[in-house]
Amino acid sequence: EHVANQIAAGEVIERPSSVVKELVENSLDAGSTKVDVSIEEGGLQLIRVADNGSGIETDDCEVAFFRHATSKIASGKDLFHIRTLGFRGEALPSIAAVAKVECVTSPSADGLGRKLVIEGGSVKSFQETAASRGTDMTVRELFYNTPARLKYMKTIQTELGHISDYIYRLAMAHPQVAFTLKHNGSVLLQTLGNGDLLQVVAAVYGTAVAKAMLPVQAESADYSIAGFVSRPDMTRSNRQAITIVMNGRTIRNYAVSNAILNAYHTLLPINRYPVVALHIGMDPALVDVNVHPAKLEVRFSKEQELVRFVEDAIGSVLRGQVL
Ligand code: ADP
Ligand code: MG
Repeated sequence: EHVANQIAAGEVIERPSSVVKELVENSLDAGSTKVDVSIEEGGLQLIRVADNGSGIETDDCEVAFFRHATSKIASGKDLFHIRTLGFRGEALPSIAAVAKVECVTSPSADGLGRKLVIEGGSVKSFQETAASRGTDMTVRELFYNTPARLKYMKTIQTELGHISDYIYRLAMAHPQVAFTLKHNGSVLLQTLGNGDLLQVVAAVYGTAVAKAMLPVQAESADYSIAGFVSRPDMTRSNRQAITIVMNGRTIRNYAVSNAILNAYHTLLPINRYPVVALHIGMDPALVDVNVHPAKLEVRFSKEQELVRFVEDAIGSVLRGQVL
């Protein structure tokens, strides 16, 4: 069992950002409207995710940390058809196999909950504790018992970069959820969770960038698009600041990114890229999750139609600009 968990952990938990991703997705699955993420030393020392979601029932606490105990989705294809993000039921067992985990959780508002401590896959203690509704997971000393894996970790800045990039995009995908991200005590991100995407853009990129964003809104029979794109004179030297959210999930798709860049084509020098935060909606039947859902690479049927739709929507916004 321990060995199986450590092997699985190698696939699911690659680095600190994988832990953050799994914990935060669980928080969203649990219906949280507030998610606080605290990191120390790039996540290698500590990762803490506290939410105000459904909490875990007492009888389910230990079960949640054992392998294949839960599985919400039968195949990757289901990914876009359902609301929840979890699909394997092995994130918590994997994390618990390679770190020291403390889970404080309560499904009720009576101030009472449970605290479960697991180290290297073994339960150390499980007791009643004071807790508000929700779940507070602390993961310490990731890979402490798998030194070979630990050796592959990059600098604290690199690991933190993976984490913050992930949280920034997630916050833009979920403007109705209040996120905070702290590293070694300093606040890197704070969103209000009031549904205002532009507030999230301001929190991520700064108010000057947010002020220079243009709203995009369009609809066709098959697609809808809503969000913000930067004025052509507010650009960056890399394409990292392009966030595409498809049916609530951040995705990477070459055709859609290119459609966005094409809309800017005549306005931007070749090596400059816009800041973009766009939500695209479409019938899930038109989306193919390509092999590995965790890779965020997706394909679309009617891709050419989608490309034209995105290019037109942004193009007309940019043409409407008096430069
Ligand atoms: P999965 O998300 O695929 O079900 P996980 O290992 O990530 O598998 O989580 C196991 C289970 O633990 C979840 O199905 C859920 O019931 C419970 N759980 C984990 N994190 C939370 C949370 N933050 N709030 C409520 N329940 C949680
Ligand atoms: Mg999960």
